Amino acid sequence: MSSFVLVVNTGSSSLKYSLVDGASGDSPASGSVERIGESSGRLSHEVDGQEHVEERAFPDHDSALRAALDAFAAYGPSLDSAGVVAVGHRVVHGGERFSAPALVDDDVIGAVEALVPLAPLHNPANLEGIAVARKLFPDLPQVAVFDTAYHHTMPPAAYTYAVPLAWRDEHAIRRYGFHGTSNAYVARSAAAALGRAPEEVDVIVLHLGNGASATAVRGGRSVDTSMGMTPLEGLVMGTRSGDVDPALHAHLHRSLGWSLDDIDTALNRSSGLKGLAGDNDFREVMRLRAAGDAGAALAFDVYSYRIRKYVGAYYAVLGTVDAVVFTAGVGEHSPEVRAASLSGLSRLGISVDPDRNAGPVDGPTFISPDSADVAVLVVPTDEEYEIARQALSLVEEGRQARHETP
Ligand code: AMP
Repeated sequence: MSSFVLVVNTGSSSLKYSLVDGASGDSPASGSVERIGESSGRLSHEVDGQEHVEERAFPDHDSALRAALDAFAAYGPSLDSAGVVAVGHRVVHGGERFSAPALVDDDVIGAVEALVPLAPLHNPANLEGIAVARKLFPDLPQVAVFDTAYHHTMPPAAYTYAVPLAWRDEHAIRRYGFHGTSNAYVARSAAAALGRAPEEVDVIVLHLGNGASATAVRGGRSVDTSMGMTPLEGLVMGTRSGDVDPALHAHLHRSLGWSLDDIDTALNRSSGLKGLAGDNDFREVMRLRAAGDAGAALAFDVYSYRIRKYVGAYYAVLGTVDAVVFTAGVGEHSPEVRAASLSGLSRLGISVDPDRNAGPVDGPTFISPDSADVAVLVVPTDEEYEIARQALSLVEEGRQARHETP
């Protein structure tokens, strides 16, 4: 029986796809369609280490996914021969309802639609991807895998904002957390690298990509995370501010006359590294910093300091920490951030070995000295594998249940 899942991650103007073996994580092909809806778009299909590019217009998500399927037919591998068993969709917000992946039906679609006010940029695009895939693969199970689901294990003390009851009860105002699929994969891989079962280890996961979050994981379950009701809260990110005084909205509105939408957009799109250094790409920030740019130097310091603050907070939340784990673009590639964000923590048993930190990262890699109480690791994340794994296991559970039904 095949265990291949077609993983689809739809954004408002992009669509990423991968063919992934949900059992082994092997991915024979993956690709993306960028600038959907614009006059010129770009499809990139990678197979056997070779990239095939098509530059043309993709008017909508339907044409983008059709083009991806054509790319499988033209450049391989054949989806028919692979025997795809499910389509796995990344869905950003699963709200209070979804604590696990869900087999898509009209009820699930209605629930994801109802969550659009909590994720106005992401959920509509995710729904679009699901609608198109249902049309193109009417006979395949479609599985929604939610970014928020992993954090359902947070206790009320961690997820509750100190705001009036009516807001919490009637408007689902609470912390949800994101990057759940990455966290699930990375925490499990870190436990495996430590040679222990996930239920036995307590880790702090630092997912530092364009979006960034810190998560406290006790025994394989999230107990706190830095992103909140939306992905704006917490660490400094590419274009998001992370934590600011909540009174900032009122102040900017009163003093500049800005609308709430203007302020929301500015905090999500032109803050973070972009606001501090003028660029959201971490590599560019590091280049500017090396050239003596004061804004980029401050950006690096604010970025690393915020991470250190959360590591301290989550150390206190967990009580004991077996490992601190870095992942995603910046976490996997910036020894400077890893060293700076964990500096001065040796009394907590956390330190970074400079040679190991500067060395190559190939799979889970230890960068702490052997003598350290707390392991520090770099683990390349693999969200596509995690989505495929979860989708496959849901489909197999369903299959087993059908066999067991008398
Ligand atoms: P992600 O969202 O995980 O793709 O991460 C994107 C971020 O990782 C961007 O800010 C990139 O600049 C950063 N990044 C990627 N490669 C490197 C690298 N070699 N060194 C530093 N930052 C990097």
